Amino acid sequence: MYKRALSITVASMFTFIGLAGAHDDMSKPDIRTETRMEKDSKGKEKKILYMFIDGIKVHETDVEKQPLPPVIVAGKESTQAQPGTAPSDAVILFDSTEKSMNNWTDTKGGPTKWKLVAGALESVKKAGYIRTKREFGSCQLHVEWATPKDVKGSSQGRGNSGVFLMGIYEVQVLDSFENVTYADGQAGALYGRAKPLVNAGRGPGVWQSYDIIFHRPIFDDQGKLVKRATFTVLQNGVLIQDHVLLSGGTGWAGPHAASEYKAHGGKGPITLQDHGNPVRYRNIWIRELED
Ligand code: MG
Repeated sequence: MYKRALSITVASMFTFIGLAGAHDDMSKPDIRTETRMEKDSKGKEKKILYMFIDGIKVHETDVEKQPLPPVIVAGKESTQAQPGTAPSDAVILFDSTEKSMNNWTDTKGGPTKWKLVAGALESVKKAGYIRTKREFGSCQLHVEWATPKDVKGSSQGRGNSGVFLMGIYEVQVLDSFENVTYADGQAGALYGRAKPLVNAGRGPGVWQSYDIIFHRPIFDDQGKLVKRATFTVLQNGVLIQDHVLLSGGTGWAGPHAASEYKAHGGKGPITLQDHGNPVRYRNIWIRELED
């Protein structure tokens, strides 16, 4: 059991009286109690005991003292026939409209040559990667994708694309339905770094989703890595990357090799890969997170 310390002193309204319980043991919650003398609605002084767990005030019924979280409108779920909608506080990156195509450029900042096909953003061979104009760091990203219905190629050559966080860290997109490739190169892999927990892939031509919770890596002023990136990924609602601490870059560095972290700033684009296969995307939205 943790040790809960408490001290009480009589004092005037809202005066801090007692605080204890600080410790460095991260395996246990930091529990502190604090007693304050406060006046009730009739002006009578009352002794109130507060509890803080890891700095958060517990069971505070007064919303002035513990504000409620903002109310948002959750989006609609997608179906195979119809893309869903983003939550009201998300930044929409692609919603099947021509207008949302303008959120994307080629890697040199020019208009993308990817096509709008039946409400989907389709990769065009040799058109190159595309990236968002706006840049993001830590985030929640929702992306839906479908590999070509017309199955061609095998292994890394079948339905290959990719979703890059900060334009650098790739969550692999691939037709991994009855298509064997190396484990850390299949759909849902953090490319070359972490294989997915399971293969939750649907068949070619079928819409699939990634929900990605990404916390960016942090570098100090000298470019030294001080905090690694983390990824949590759900594919089609199934957990496939469970708060994975990314060990370095996801760029191809040859067999039995991996690229290292290279220092960068706090934000970068969301990038989609042209790997020569006409992979489609729809319903892409993002919510920025605290680091
Ligand atoms: Mg790829």
